[in-house]
Amino acid sequence: MKTDFARHLAWTSDHPLGFEVEWAEGPFLFLTNGNRLIDFISGIAVSSLGHRHPSVLRAIRDQLDKHLHVMVYGEFIQAPQVQFSKHLTNLLPAPLDCVYFTMSGTEANEGALKLAKKYTGRNRMIAFEQSYHGDTHGSLSVTGRSIYQDPFRPLLPDVTFLTFGDFDALTEIDDQTACVITEPIQGEGGMRVPPPGWFKALRSQCSSTETLLILDEIQTGFGRTGHLFAFEHEGIIPDILTLAKAMGGGMPLGAFVSSTKIMDSLRRDPPLSHVTTFGGHPVSCAAADATLRVMTEEKLPERARWVGDQIRSKLQPSPISTLRGRGAMMGLDLPSTAIAEQVVKICLDQGVLLGWTLHSGTVIRLAPPLNIPQNILDEALDVILGALHLV
Ligand code: PMP
Repeated sequence: MKTDFARHLAWTSDHPLGFEVEWAEGPFLFLTNGNRLIDFISGIAVSSLGHRHPSVLRAIRDQLDKHLHVMVYGEFIQAPQVQFSKHLTNLLPAPLDCVYFTMSGTEANEGALKLAKKYTGRNRMIAFEQSYHGDTHGSLSVTGRSIYQDPFRPLLPDVTFLTFGDFDALTEIDDQTACVITEPIQGEGGMRVPPPGWFKALRSQCSSTETLLILDEIQTGFGRTGHLFAFEHEGIIPDILTLAKAMGGGMPLGAFVSSTKIMDSLRRDPPLSHVTTFGGHPVSCAAADATLRVMTEEKLPERARWVGDQIRSKLQPSPISTLRGRGAMMGLDLPSTAIAEQVVKICLDQGVLLGWTLHSGTVIRLAPPLNIPQNILDEALDVILGALHLV
C-alpha cells in the first residue's frame, strides 16, 4: 500500500505522515500496524463529534436508501438541503437566513467573495496578514502569507492586507471596499485571538462604509470555540458567514450564509452567475443535519469550553510554552520549530496525534473532538505534559 501511495497519489509535501488507517471510532484512529492514536486534531477541526458518530452514520445510511446526486445545486427540491438549511438558519441571528451550499471551505469563500463583489458593485477587498482562507485562486488571493501566494501570481488585484487586531488599520476600509474577510480566530496563523473590542470596531467601520463583513468560520464554527459560532464571543453579526469542516460530521460540505437580500444578487444579471454541481450533496446535508442535532442536544459548545479549561489547567503555566486560543481550539506556542517538532514526535510515539499550523511552525495545534471522554483527554494531556518536560 505504501509503495502505491508513493507511486499513484499526488503528494503535498516531501514528508507526509503516511499512516495507514484501518478504522476510526470516537476519538481514536486505529492503524494497520496495530497502533491506536488519540486524534487530538480531529482531522483538522472536522471530527468534532469524534469519528463515525452513530447518529451521523444512521442519517447517511437513511439517505443512501433514498438518493445520491440527482441534479446540480439549486434546481431540485432536495429534502436534506432544505431541512439542514432551515435547522442551521434557525440557530443563526437575523439576517443570516439564506444558505448557499458548496463542497469545501475554499469554495465557500470563493462564493462569498463573488457575492460581495456582485452585491456592492465594488472590487477592493481587505484581508489580514497570517490569515488562511483556502487554496483556490480567489481564496489564496486573500490569504495573508506571501510564500504561498508568490508562485501563483497574478492573483486577484486590489487586495489590501492589514494587521490582524490592529485598531488603527481599520481606517483603510473605505467606500470603495467590497468586503473585508477574516477569521474570528486565526487558526493557521497560530490560534491568534484579536484584542477585546476589535471586532466591534471592525463591524462598525464596515457598516459605516457599506462594506460587507465576511467571517470565515470554517475552522472556528460548530462549537469549537465554546459557542456554536465564534462571532457570538464578539457580540457582532457578519454580513456573510462561511462554513465547512465540522459542519458535515466527516462528510464534505461547505456553505456561505447571508441575508436573502444580499444572496438574491446571485440569481439574476445574469441568472446562474454562480453554480455548482455537487454543492450541498444530499448525503453530506443529511450528515450535517444529524451532526448539528447532536451538537445542540449534547451541548457540545459548552463541552468545548470545559475541554479548553482542562487543557489550560493541565498545560499552564509552563516554563517553555504559551497557550493561545478559545475553547477546544488551542495552540501551544514553543520557543522554536525544532522543539515543536520534537514535542509532536514524542507524543506521536506515545499514541497522541498532534499537528502543526500552516503559518506558524512553533505552534502545535490542540483540537480534540469536543465530546472526547474525560479519561482519554486526561491520558492525552499527560502525554503532552510529559513531552514538554522531556524537551
Ligand atoms: N478557511 C479556514 C479558516 C480554514 O482553516 C480552511 C482549511 N484549513 C479553509 C478556509 C479551507 O477549507 P478547505 O480545505 O475545505 O477548502
